[in-house]
Amino acid sequence: MIDKNINKIRSDIPNYVELIAISKTKPNEDIMKAYMNGHRSFGENKIQEMSIKFEELPKDIIWHMVGHVQSNKIKYMAPYVNLIHGVDSFKSIKIINKEGQKNNRILNCLLQLKISEEDSKFGLEANSIKKIIFSDEYDQMKNVKIRGIMAMATNTKNKDIIRNEFIYAKHIFDEISAIDNNLEILSMGMSNDYHIAIECGSNMIRLGSLIFGERNY
Ligand SMILES: *Cc1c(COP(=O)(O)O)cnc(C)c1O
Repeated sequence: MIDKNINKIRSDIPNYVELIAISKTKPNEDIMKAYMNGHRSFGENKIQEMSIKFEELPKDIIWHMVGHVQSNKIKYMAPYVNLIHGVDSFKSIKIINKEGQKNNRILNCLLQLKISEEDSKFGLEANSIKKIIFSDEYDQMKNVKIRGIMAMATNTKNKDIIRNEFIYAKHIFDEISAIDNNLEILSMGMSNDYHIAIECGSNMIRLGSLIFGERNY
């Protein structure tokens, strides 16, 4: 089923939209089913789980950290992570830069924009994002590169709420990417709302349950 699910989603989304398979809580054999079907980009939200999978699975897998980024965990992903989605403080940017330096890598990350009123969602206000991106301090960092924005909509059945939040994220993304052309990724859309996200301009979607089935925590 996993390969069928991926094929179906792929045939259903525009080519420019990158699909990240969110494999959190799922076993290696599930990831390998997607891998054997040609899929390479996977996302996890817990660093320990991601690092174990990184060790055990083929080395050409492209790993995405999609969980909230705790600054004391960055050192564990710095050697191999491809994109860190949920960055929501300048403090984390500084630590990512430092860990990138130690590993002689440039670490790609996304700033998480707060678009939902829900308390459980992390994220920065648009003004804080602009302040970071256009600061001299960030400009001088050599080992971290902000590549765009990540956003999570409110968990609701009300599509108008979701749509308005995604439209807002696209608006902010357009503003900042017009000034800095390193900012090219807009990561938004999950299993329940990716159609709306793509309509609103997302170019990276993060799908878990639609690919791997419901998670049992
Ligand atoms: C779990 C998770 C997803 C995937 O959620 P699904 O609803 O299973 O598609 C996407 N993004 C983040 C940040 C997640 O934590």
